[in-house]
Amino acid sequence: MKLVIATRNHKKMEEIRRILALPENDPFSLDDFPGCPEVIEDGRTFAENADKKALAVARFTGLTALADDSGLVVDGLNGAPGVFSARYAGEGASDAQNVSKLLDELSARPDAPRTARFECVLSLADPDGRTAHFTGTVEGHITNHPMGHNGFGYDPIFIPNGHDVTFALMPAADKDAMSHRGRALAALARNINTFFEPKNSLVQ
Ligand code: IMP
Repeated sequence: MKLVIATRNHKKMEEIRRILALPENDPFSLDDFPGCPEVIEDGRTFAENADKKALAVARFTGLTALADDSGLVVDGLNGAPGVFSARYAGEGASDAQNVSKLLDELSARPDAPRTARFECVLSLADPDGRTAHFTGTVEGHITNHPMGHNGFGYDPIFIPNGHDVTFALMPAADKDAMSHRGRALAALARNINTFFEPKNSLVQ
């Protein structure tokens, strides 16, 4: 099976490859298809964005494509940044700018709950337009200050329930074992063969 991972984010690619135990040169990434058009992530949900990316890449490459859309949902911010997680502080914002904006917004609301969750929707699509979804969530809370340098994005300010350190202070394997992406990828790994059975649209 030839699979292309619909991302240009090297850290994400690394996580996906590690969790699915894929070899270095297999599967393909978008770096192998420099002409693949950029997809505008304007969906209202993680699932809409993941489908849009996976379908566009599957059609362009003629291969089965796997896309993920993920983000952080903070209760005290009415679900923000959600689908805007990557660009919360503006288009092209750095992780540090997004983190800083989120902490500022929360400190302006001292009574707001700091409970939060990372959500991930994986969409597997084939060039004929069939899709399957696999989802994962991890519950936790937002710290007052960034702590740690591992991982990416909002990892330095997210402590998963049952733990007392942020994702950015954990070894990668510990994060993978409980993360939203780790859980969604585990569901994918359990079910991926079903997707390749003829005429079977697998939705989870
Ligand atoms: P996208 O899925 O590439 O559109 O971007 C999701 C954004 O959500 C990332 O740029 C991060 O800001 C955030 N995010 C998603 N997953 C994680 C994670 O595992 N750790 C920290 N931040 C994440």
